[in-house]
Amino acid sequence: MGPSLVLLSASKLASYLRAFASSLNPLPCIPSTPCVKFSLMRNVVIIGSGPAGLTAAVYAARANLSPLLIEGWQSGGQLTTTTEVENYPGFAKGIMGPELMKEMRAQAERFGTEFLTGEVTAVALTQPPFTLTIDGEQTVRTKTLIIATGASAIQIGLKNEARLTGHGVSTCATCDGFFFKGKELIVVGGGDSAMEEATFLTKFATKVSIVHRRDKLRASKIMQDRAAKNEKIAFVWNSVVEDILGNDVVTGVRVKNLVTGKVTEVPCAGVFVAIGHHPNTNLFSGQLEMDPKGYVRTTEGTATSVPGVFAAGDVQDSTYRQAVTAAGSGCMAAIDAERFLVSREG
Ligand code: NAP
Repeated sequence: MGPSLVLLSASKLASYLRAFASSLNPLPCIPSTPCVKFSLMRNVVIIGSGPAGLTAAVYAARANLSPLLIEGWQSGGQLTTTTEVENYPGFAKGIMGPELMKEMRAQAERFGTEFLTGEVTAVALTQPPFTLTIDGEQTVRTKTLIIATGASAIQIGLKNEARLTGHGVSTCATCDGFFFKGKELIVVGGGDSAMEEATFLTKFATKVSIVHRRDKLRASKIMQDRAAKNEKIAFVWNSVVEDILGNDVVTGVRVKNLVTGKVTEVPCAGVFVAIGHHPNTNLFSGQLEMDPKGYVRTTEGTATSVPGVFAAGDVQDSTYRQAVTAAGSGCMAAIDAERFLVSREG
């Protein structure tokens, strides 16, 4: 019998490679080869690779704390799924979200941040040193932890929304808009995300209808105006999407007017859900204080309820939620972590 071909998923393969790399510890890593010394006690570990995590990494690295940043399989956070960022200071002509994140990562790398790709599957935060489990296998120990896990898109919660995700239902226009050339689309929501997604989608679609549950938008004035001026965009006020229709792919939505109670079927090829985000904090549940919406509570800057654990960015901010505020709090978290280490170790 010939040799059998073993197919490994990307994550399995990566975890084998990591296990192999760690089995080499405490031998030094080969220069210029990604190799994380799992046995090392870390000064600072950062979870998350959005603006908060990467800014924390820049500051921690420049403070000689040799940070380790754990990035998920989709590194870069929410900005990698956005288009042009026009309000990040320093870019007079705007910058594409993915490009901004690439630059931030390169900057963190330049000062010596180590990166590890994987999912943190468990944390033990009773007291420092804290232990993190990566992909259920490797463990990392650290004197301080910066949580910058951000937030994820909220779903409407319809059965057919889950079933048709990837088959016409999406939460990312930048990722999926291209597939809808010459089609009619629905965007759900009334905030900046909905305006941005709808405006972007008009590059491909013939018509984009924004379905919003009230008769007033939550979006900023400039984003509202841009959408209102776009001839391809129509607004469906005081309405909710009750169901998404289609067997294999989306063919339409059932929309209910909340004022009149009238239900109509609107044909469309895609539904983009842009109704906000929820914080990625399940991992820390029961170990850190959180507010009723699940955001990590911070006091005195970025301190959490556990000394030595700090939180930055959208994971602890339900108010501002901007790239620049996330970056600012990432900077604060690194400074707070540095001061914590000095206070403990002198
Ligand atoms: P958001 O501001 O929270 O808006 C969410 C929208 O979805 C609201 O209009 C809300 O309706 C609606 N909604 C919530 N739950 C719903 C449900 N179950 N069914 C139907 N509609 C629902 O979220 P966002 O638009 O994602 O923006 C988040 C933050 O990011 C904001 O601070 C925003 O300024 C920022 N942002 C900025 C940019 C930019 O500047 N380029 C782009 C995107 C986002 P109600 O209005 O009735 O509550």
